[in-house]
Amino acid sequence: MPEDNVKKPSEPSGKEPAPKEDRSLDFVREIVSEDLKSGKNGNRVTTRFPPEPNGYLHIGHAKSICLNFGIAKENNGICHLRFDDTNPAKEDIEYVDSIREDVRWLGFDWKDKEFYASDYFDKIYEYAVMLIKKGLAYVDDLTGEQIRQYRGTLTEPGKESPFRNRSVEENLSLFERMRTGEFEEGSRVLRAKIDMSSPNINLRDPTIYRIKKSDHHRTGNKWCIYPMYDFAHCLSDSIEGITHSICTLEFENNRPLYDWFLNALKTSCHPQQIEFARLNINFTVLSKRKLLRLVEENFVRGWDDPRMPTLSGLRRRGYTPEAIRTFCERIGVSKVESVVDIAFLEHCLREDLNRRALRVMAVLKPLKVIIDNYPEEKTEMLQAVNNPEDESAGTRQIPLSKVIYIEQDDFRENPSKDFFRLSLGKEVRLRYAYFLKCENITKDPATGEIIELHCTYDPSTRGGNNPADGRKVKATVHWVSAAHAIAAEARLYDYLFTKDNPNEEAEEKDFTAFVNPKSLEILKDCRVEPCLANAAAGNLYQFERLGYFCVDPDTTSSNLVFNRTITLRDQLAKIEQGKKKK
Ligand code: ATP
Ligand code: MG
Repeated sequence: MPEDNVKKPSEPSGKEPAPKEDRSLDFVREIVSEDLKSGKNGNRVTTRFPPEPNGYLHIGHAKSICLNFGIAKENNGICHLRFDDTNPAKEDIEYVDSIREDVRWLGFDWKDKEFYASDYFDKIYEYAVMLIKKGLAYVDDLTGEQIRQYRGTLTEPGKESPFRNRSVEENLSLFERMRTGEFEEGSRVLRAKIDMSSPNINLRDPTIYRIKKSDHHRTGNKWCIYPMYDFAHCLSDSIEGITHSICTLEFENNRPLYDWFLNALKTSCHPQQIEFARLNINFTVLSKRKLLRLVEENFVRGWDDPRMPTLSGLRRRGYTPEAIRTFCERIGVSKVESVVDIAFLEHCLREDLNRRALRVMAVLKPLKVIIDNYPEEKTEMLQAVNNPEDESAGTRQIPLSKVIYIEQDDFRENPSKDFFRLSLGKEVRLRYAYFLKCENITKDPATGEIIELHCTYDPSTRGGNNPADGRKVKATVHWVSAAHAIAAEARLYDYLFTKDNPNEEAEEKDFTAFVNPKSLEILKDCRVEPCLANAAAGNLYQFERLGYFCVDPDTTSSNLVFNRTITLRDQLAKIEQGKKKK
């Protein structure tokens, strides 16, 4: 809640990165740079961001987007947007649209290089036929369960399927019949013939095609067999002429398979797969599957709920693309798994908002104040600074009249010694206005609740200046004029999870057990400065002393709704201060 002093510029986090030019290249950029030097790909850099359209993008994807698009841009290359849409059951056009919107919003442009793995289904099918002809793939009649049993474990080799040695002709005929829909789902698959005793389980004759009698959002009912991700992914990369196929560490053990397919098929382009550590952040989950559960089980209001770590949620919350890009740049890229403190993301956000947000006054929990010695009919205009960080933002005029609202928290009936804001007989400064002294409290006789304060002001302190008698006050409070203020709703958010690492299952509870029941607080009776009358969805402001807020798209002409993007206090700074106190 409000601090005793008006906001200071954002505090340092203790994790300030070195200026960009002083930093050496990360290991991925190092590889790309070496390849350019050696002329490996004919001086060409082509990357891709390959989402599966089965959910909305989250901030983990932003790391991958910044890396892939960033590397392309820095090297005069191009980054493709490729939808890895090989699973018709879970994918949807809604997700495709949201992904395009989010990548664009983050500030990246794929020009006309928008591709779909499903565009290559014909080619990928031909590649499968080629493998069969080379004796490197076979149709297997084992059930899914049997295939799993035959696969072996990390310590035991797998067992060969009795169907492994079918003739090329039989395999070609069976695969064709799979394609024409003759067989039931799950009754047969096409497998690559590699090595059932390989220490790398990915190489134990992986399935490359399966029967799936579902319509696909792009190819309709043309196919009833679909390539598996591993097979489709490397071939899509190769078809597109990708030079560096950058992915997260969990695909490290798939790289030998990726290379096996491309070598077996002697493709003209053989992209280099490079793995980096995925982004993890505490107090949240970064997995589309988990985020989908939060949406479907109504823990949140949708994919773009401002508590979600999705890009659409962060956007609605008031995050700027600049803040997210800065965050991604500063966390860097490495091979070591780690968890980034959410306070660091917030720090990057505050730094950006501090520069751009216009300052206004708003009262979240209003307490009525009557200035007894202020003329009844008078309204005067006082000058306020729009952004102390940016002179070009200029100034504005704020109306003052006899009745104002201040924050309930800024008044105490029984103040402790270190409470310097308003209390009976005490004086404070009204931001940009006058010194104000509390003379009387009016209470509801039935409940004892404070209804209003009666105060007096000192006309010699206009603009908040100290009076000639040298009197000083220790606190400045924000306020709005009752007659001029606009009613608004404010939605205050806290972390979505109460646990530092909600992914870590405890006592057999799954992650939803740690959803924070108090992650949303709605205040319906707020009052904001009249200059916000025409504020449009997405506009960002700093409510002085309260935090950064942005206008929610739920806003209508009769109901102005704000999301609290972030409080002013830097958690990192707070943690540091806390340590010092102890
Ligand atoms: P999720 O685990 O959330 O379902 P995913 O990896 O299945 O994510 P994809 O749509 O396959 O999602 O991801 C597209 C790209 O984004 C991939 O290259 C993937 O490696 C990358 N990516 C996904 N999550 C992260 C993350 N947390 N950090 C960095 N990159 C990520
Ligand atoms: Mg995936």
